[in-house]
Amino acid sequence: MTERIIPVADLRYLQAVPHIPELLTAPTGLLSDKLARPLRDLRISVTDRCNFRCVYCMPKEVFDKDYAFLPHGLLLSFEEITRITKIFVAHGVEKIRLTGGEPLLRKNIEKLIEMLAVITTPEGKPLDLTMTTNGSLLAKKAQSLKDAGLQRVTVSLDSLDEATFQRMNDVDVPVADVLHGIDVAHQVGLGPIKVNMVVKGGVNDQEIVPMAQHFKGSPVILRFIEYMDVGASNGWKMDEVIPSAEVVRRISESMPLQEVEANYTGETAERWRYVDGQGEIGVISSVTQAFCSDCNRARLSTEGKLFTCLFATGGHDLRALLRSEHSDAQISSAIAHLWSKREDRYSELRTKHTEGLERPVRKVEMSYIGG
Ligand code: SAM
Ligand code: SF4
Ligand code: SF4
Repeated sequence: MTERIIPVADLRYLQAVPHIPELLTAPTGLLSDKLARPLRDLRISVTDRCNFRCVYCMPKEVFDKDYAFLPHGLLLSFEEITRITKIFVAHGVEKIRLTGGEPLLRKNIEKLIEMLAVITTPEGKPLDLTMTTNGSLLAKKAQSLKDAGLQRVTVSLDSLDEATFQRMNDVDVPVADVLHGIDVAHQVGLGPIKVNMVVKGGVNDQEIVPMAQHFKGSPVILRFIEYMDVGASNGWKMDEVIPSAEVVRRISESMPLQEVEANYTGETAERWRYVDGQGEIGVISSVTQAFCSDCNRARLSTEGKLFTCLFATGGHDLRALLRSEHSDAQISSAIAHLWSKREDRYSELRTKHTEGLERPVRKVEMSYIGG
């Protein structure tokens, strides 16, 4: 008998078709996982493509011209995304974030926003509908996004200095384009705008204070994100992480800060206000201070896999259910079953995962499951 060689599967294509319980239960909006965490926030990746090559997310050496991005037919359609969103909302999801890849590269994204903007919670409230973007196409798109029903945007910007910006993002887009995008988004009412800066030690940490100075006193809320070990291609090392406490310390030296209460349970950013009343910043300490105990976020990948943790090694193929004869009630029960079994808390366990292993654990890329 000839031996069959089974190729190592591309993680994106690993099949894990969710189990549909025999007994279908109606959603109550009160879904809870094994650690008593509800499901409130759904992040939807609408494309795995991007016009940037950030070194911490899609390094050029891996995401090069030969990289096999997903073909269009494998992507969830707008109708599929809308259908699954309604099912999630019945389970208690109140906040939808469109992400990617670069969400503004998905053709007719405004159409999807229109379809999602009319969904309401079981209590009749509109969803908190938002998007994370690299901002390069925002100036052009802001008005149509607003008209379609998008409420807010979060813009990623890692530096104001042209050379550092390029070193982080590996593209020729000028900083001014992103800043202009932020201005236009503000003018059309896509605020309050948050700006995310990923801090990578030795690359852009010298930009912490200039970024804080730039946005201090403006309507923009700047948030500093600790560089995370997402995916398997960014070559993450702990000594390149600048802890949030250090970010706050550096800013406070010239612009004193005081801590502010969280807006709501599960808020990822810790808030700090300028003592002189000139606004606030946020710090997202996903490495040094894990916030898994409140994590109410699920992620839907570009091709419709559900990930119950940003650091998961595999997803649950909801697209397979959407593209078969299953009813909404069946899909809803399958999601309830998955969430009730969830016990992810990767960041809390990170040290165990990153130390003492010869190779890092293979995880899915952020551009695919969405940030
Ligand atoms: N392309 C859009 C953008 O950059 O805003 C949306 C997708 S991006 C994956 C979402 C967020 O994840 C961005 O704010 C990005 O800076 C952040 N991100 C990506 N890789 C990261 C990493 N290794 N550590 C921390 N944040 C990361
Ligand atoms: Fe693209 Fe956003 Fe990833 Fe940068 S962080 S490569 S802009 S998806
Ligand atoms: Fe949530 Fe996983 Fe991040 Fe913990 S590591 S906060 S469970 S996504």
